[in-house]
Amino acid sequence: MRACGVCHSDVLAVEGQRADPSTPVVPGHEIAGVVEAVGPGVNAWHQGDRVGVGFFNGHCGECELCRRGDFVNCDNQHQTGTTFDGGYAEVTYARASGLVRLPDEMDAVDLAPLLCAGLTVYGALLQAGAGALPGALVAIQGIGGLGHLGIEYAAKLGYRVAAITRSGEKAGLAKQLGADHYIDSKTADPAAVLQELGGATAIVATATNGASMSPLIPGLAPRGKAIVVGAAPDPIEVQTFDIIFGTRSVIGSLTGSSIENEDNLQLAQRHGIRSMNEVMAFSEAPRAYEQMMSGQARFRVVLDVA
Ligand SMILES: [Zn+2]
Ligand SMILES: [Zn+2]
Repeated sequence: MRACGVCHSDVLAVEGQRADPSTPVVPGHEIAGVVEAVGPGVNAWHQGDRVGVGFFNGHCGECELCRRGDFVNCDNQHQTGTTFDGGYAEVTYARASGLVRLPDEMDAVDLAPLLCAGLTVYGALLQAGAGALPGALVAIQGIGGLGHLGIEYAAKLGYRVAAITRSGEKAGLAKQLGADHYIDSKTADPAAVLQELGGATAIVATATNGASMSPLIPGLAPRGKAIVVGAAPDPIEVQTFDIIFGTRSVIGSLTGSSIENEDNLQLAQRHGIRSMNEVMAFSEAPRAYEQMMSGQARFRVVLDVA
């Protein structure tokens, strides 16, 4: 282990929100490290390789979904730091199929948050699909741990980016991250503003609040997609007419495969995409977790394990 990001999904391990909370699990799934040893039958990876591991710990390659190439939905795959020990540790294990090659030019602390948070927004933007031509309007809801990266990725992918937030006074930050438009959803109807701008081809919803996503849906352009990545305890409400007319859709996006994670890191390396990090020593892991949970982190917390 060299570095591990602290992600909101660590709550599943720390608070025991999982199938068998009686068995403790080491949290952490934004892992940047170096291969210390390989098991029998591993040919493509060697001691000393710089590797990452994200939320998925390696697909099985044998289930029906894997055989159809749908590795994210493999039904025989551990979730790092949730069903399998993760990266708040000196040493961790992963299936070879879950490993991600790290670009030499980037250091472990910069890479770690991109392995889950970065991949999550990158994967969501891939879901925007063929309709999202260069210059298409893409809205990012929230300027937090996920959203601030979402703005950077969307801008670097060539989209016209609208940042939507309720927290106010973040216009300067949104512009600095690459947003073309800033919408304060406390003082303006975000859907109306998006329609004035031509309608959003995609909205990446990163808030942990379903009710805050509902009013965004009418801001979609025809064939537009609202792509949900923020896990919220409450539902999203959608007016049926808003999705029938214009054939709009609301979809989820779940991280990405290990090879998509390599594409993600290549993009970040080539375009200088970095999260804004608060770096803490490994010995401060409990405080790092508390800082992330407080919602006060600016914007990702990373444990420097090295
Ligand atoms: Zn995560
Ligand atoms: Zn599988």
